[in-house]
Amino acid sequence: MDVRNLIIIGSGPAGLTAAIYSGRAGLKPLVVEGPMSGGQLMLTTEVENFPGFEDGIMGPDLMSRMKRQAERFGAEFVGGSVTSVNFLEEPFEVVVEGAERYKAHSVIIATGASPRLLGLESERRLLGKGVSTCAVCDGFFFRDRDVVVVGGGDSAMEDALYLSKIASHVFVVHRRDSLRASKILQERAFSNEKISFIWNSVVDEIYDPDLGRVTGLRLRDVRTGELRDIECDGVFLAIGHVPNTAIFSGQLEMDEQGYIVTRDGTRTSREGVFAAGDVQDKRYRQAITAAGSGCMAAIDAERYIMERKLMI
Ligand code: NAP
Repeated sequence: MDVRNLIIIGSGPAGLTAAIYSGRAGLKPLVVEGPMSGGQLMLTTEVENFPGFEDGIMGPDLMSRMKRQAERFGAEFVGGSVTSVNFLEEPFEVVVEGAERYKAHSVIIATGASPRLLGLESERRLLGKGVSTCAVCDGFFFRDRDVVVVGGGDSAMEDALYLSKIASHVFVVHRRDSLRASKILQERAFSNEKISFIWNSVVDEIYDPDLGRVTGLRLRDVRTGELRDIECDGVFLAIGHVPNTAIFSGQLEMDEQGYIVTRDGTRTSREGVFAAGDVQDKRYRQAITAAGSGCMAAIDAERYIMERKLMI
């Protein structure tokens, strides 16, 4: 089996920026795209804060541009998800969809993060049947219906604003009495008459798994413990993300929440393995910071390969 210079796992802004930089450096990287080519930005509408696009750019458009840019510099792409890795021996091994095996002297992990769930049995049974983690994907099904968005961050506000154009009304259920979201999104949501807020409340139950569709929620007031039911046709979860690191368990150092620990730039606990983007960042989590750390990882990987004279 050929041993490559570099395998990049993930194709969001971190993975694709790493591919552009390492491609230009002549490393001929292989990018394993993961379950969704382009990553989380494929599920967003307009990105207004990525520098260089003064009028905004659609998330999927931004990602396809990054991919074409990486291809221009010789990055190779393979679809599918990585199912296992072996970082214990060099060269490192990466297995895709349980079948294709690839070996490389260095690896950049850019697997990002996935939507967090509430952990209710009713939620599990109704996922895709009225419970959604993607307003842009599923909002369409709730025209002139009442929907709930759970969460108080930027994602929750973006989802609520997006859904307000489709649904008859949007209730935002948040566990505190103030939002975490940025001021500009808060102001837009507060001034939208189709959005109202239910504060200090968490979802205790989603009705009705036996009917196979969402008919309402039981909410619990976190201060008083009081329970109350509300009617709605859809529930959109926007309560943050968990890093996609299960396949690296036991092989790399992670923090208590499962984020890969990086030191001295993008180095992980295994020499030759680097991590970039949301998989190692629970603080900033922006497209531009992910792209920046993808650039750093590519430079770190290139130096690693050059110093050890491993370049193929
Ligand atoms: P987030 O900022 O972590 O917010 C998650 C929200 O969900 C918080 O309000 C949190 O409540 C709540 N929450 C967490 N676990 C919960 C649970 N088990 N039950 C109920 N509520 C729960 O996540 P995010 O909104 O997805 O944003 C992630 C990052 O992406 C942020 O850095 C954000 O700025 C960025 N982002 C930016 C944009 C933009 O700039 N346009 C758009 C989307 C996301 P607490 O507030 O009480 O902790």
